Amino acid sequence: MDKKPKVAFFDFAGCEGDQLQIANLEEKILDLLELVEIVSFREVMKEHSDDYEVAFIEGSIQRPKDEERLKKIRSNADMLIALGDCASNGCVNKLQKDWSIDEVEEEVYPEADDEIEDNELFSNFSTKAVDEVVNVDYYLRGCPVRGDRVLNFVEKLVKRPVDTNKDIDFGVMLRDKEVDERSLVNYNPNKCILCRRCANVCQDVLGVDALGPVERGWETIISTPKDIGFDANGCIQCGQCVAVCPVDSLYTDTPVEELSEKLKEGTQEFAIALDSIAVASFIQEHPMLSDMEPKQAERYFIASLKKMGFGKVVQYEHFLEMSREADEDNDEPVLASWCLPARNHLEAEEIDSLSVKDKNGPWNKLLKEVKGEICLMSPCSGLKAVEGLDHVISAPEMIDLFNHLDIQIGFVEPASGDYDGKLASDDFKHPGIPDDREYFKVTADLEDELAEADLEDGGVDVFPCLNGCLSGGGNHPTADESKIKKRIEIAIELREVRS
Ligand code: SF4
Ligand code: SF4
Repeated sequence: MDKKPKVAFFDFAGCEGDQLQIANLEEKILDLLELVEIVSFREVMKEHSDDYEVAFIEGSIQRPKDEERLKKIRSNADMLIALGDCASNGCVNKLQKDWSIDEVEEEVYPEADDEIEDNELFSNFSTKAVDEVVNVDYYLRGCPVRGDRVLNFVEKLVKRPVDTNKDIDFGVMLRDKEVDERSLVNYNPNKCILCRRCANVCQDVLGVDALGPVERGWETIISTPKDIGFDANGCIQCGQCVAVCPVDSLYTDTPVEELSEKLKEGTQEFAIALDSIAVASFIQEHPMLSDMEPKQAERYFIASLKKMGFGKVVQYEHFLEMSREADEDNDEPVLASWCLPARNHLEAEEIDSLSVKDKNGPWNKLLKEVKGEICLMSPCSGLKAVEGLDHVISAPEMIDLFNHLDIQIGFVEPASGDYDGKLASDDFKHPGIPDDREYFKVTADLEDELAEADLEDGGVDVFPCLNGCLSGGGNHPTADESKIKKRIEIAIELREVRS
């Protein structure tokens, strides 16, 4: 650049620690001023001008009026740089996603008067990274970013050859780690806010230890010590890390696009099996269905699935029941056939008496009994790893599927809204609902071995999903106890056989 570029710093939601790092450059700030003309920097100067070429944005975007302000800045600037992690990926502000606005109000402002309650922050509240609102040319990551890194970036920017286009890699972009797609669980390091929830649940709660933070400082990512992939490090495919990740940095592959294309084509015969727990989670989050009686909501849902192109809709509990009966007939451990993560866990512990065969798994019963291309709506993301199941869809993905096919549930009359074929028997209880833990029957041999391996019979160690299947990665994630209770009530009602 021939003349000094004009630079402005802007702050949105954040602690302003990134700007502070620049202010703290002390005498080196003179080097920065040699390179650029700073026209706006609220933390260190009063003057402000809208005449700038380069805009540094600190903080995440919370309110509609912040979005408008950011768009205006983008239209003024030739180049826009996300400064620090709040701007680059939302950082800790993204944790807000787990809380409803009512919970935030209750927790932070329990005595709130009407004036606070009417505040637009509470009526329009969501956290976005800068690139969810406008284009970002460069990212300077860090929490906070290092002042020297900013100085180094500006130096390279100003001293680059005049004909260099913006795509030049200054070595200060996103983390240079690739998205990790080697396991059932995929990991995008650029979205990760390093909250460590996944590591806490996998290491401390489940005792599996398949993933955790590796490297140091700026280089820190979630991986395995020898970078061998989560599956290779003993992952039991429970999906809990995906369920607790607040920013979808951990995710499983979605079947939505392929499924919607095929359903639109309509050339194949499709069947779908519904697990009541995933349906309960779906109903709970749906604006119309959540106001209906659970069984009525389920009938509307099934009718919409049929309109979507699923010729046959079956109840998954029927196959869970078959699986349990097959285990009981063979005097095999009851819990191990229907719960894939539990089985993987016991196998990882090298429990010798675990002789349960795949043929007893409910998914194999389903594949054997039902014809056509099969989709399973399940609370267990671990089932995405089962070979032979054509599509395994979660409750949130089901919403995407309806959107892709532009079908409005609740507007399709439930004339055909019942299950086709067999249902579970009257006394069958879904084994993944916590009040059904009596299903953790194990053989005497296995009981001894569990004790030796320091695993509890019926405890979280054996049954690896917290709150039973209710917290499986295929449900809408929630940490709200009242919501979990409600979900149990809906699921219990749905699993009961219709008269
Ligand atoms: S799926 Fe379960 S076992 Fe695997 S990495 Fe995630 S939390 Fe750990
Ligand atoms: S992957 Fe998700 S849960 Fe794990 S540290 Fe990153 S943001 Fe947190």
